[in-house]
Amino acid sequence: MKYGLIGTSGRMGKEISAVFDEAGHELVFSYDIDGITEKDTPEMIVDFSLPVAFAATMQYVIKYKCPLVIGTTGLDSAQMNELQELSSSVAIVQSFNFSLGVQMMLRCIEAVKPHLKGWDVEISETHHRFKKDKPSGTALMMKTSLGKDAPISSLRLGNVAGDHKITFASLGETFSIEHSATSRRTFAEGVLSSANYVINKQAGLYSFKDVIDDAC
Ligand code: NAD
Repeated sequence: MKYGLIGTSGRMGKEISAVFDEAGHELVFSYDIDGITEKDTPEMIVDFSLPVAFAATMQYVIKYKCPLVIGTTGLDSAQMNELQELSSSVAIVQSFNFSLGVQMMLRCIEAVKPHLKGWDVEISETHHRFKKDKPSGTALMMKTSLGKDAPISSLRLGNVAGDHKITFASLGETFSIEHSATSRRTFAEGVLSSANYVINKQAGLYSFKDVIDDAC
């Protein structure tokens, strides 16, 4: 496929273009603060940048009327509403986490959720020092899966790709569910699966869970 990438020069942008290149896809449109390259019309756009680039992403998806896979975190509710509106005319996959393991962790949280009366629950996350948003989008997804409020602790350390942990405690026992991304490649592979999924889908707003369920 011919694809476009917003946030091309970033850590995730580089990982995504490497994984798409290996799969034989051609980068025809790239956009970052250092410039724009438009070689051809993209059949699909991927956005892994910052919320400040969101308006440009919307503008290019409308211009090319093509599907979008967006993993940028820290989007506010107005931007999420704009994505919802845009999804009436194009197919979009949006997720704050494109790793399979995190989706499995969310399912575990859903499974224990009905049994937590009287238990304390806390979420913690660690990411590299350059991450802009806090708490992480994944920690917020964990809270949504939990279905109730829980404190979130955020650490910003070194080059950690992404660690998440949820700990449950009663007066007599504790247990935890945790996930570590050991490489950004795992997210890029999830983006590739999402691109293959969404390219032939009808307009609508899809999640990475939809992508995984479709593959089962
Ligand atoms: P990064 O800082 O390395 O890259 C961000 C890129 O966006 C940079 O190249 C930067 O120049 C570019 N950018 C900034 N402002 C811009 C603008 N106004 N216009 C165009 N480009 C602009 O960050 P990263 O580690 O590559 O992460 C990128 C995004 O993806 C972040 O929001 C991060 O939280 C998110 N992320 C999501 C997942 C997921 O699975 N959903 C996984 C990892 C990272």
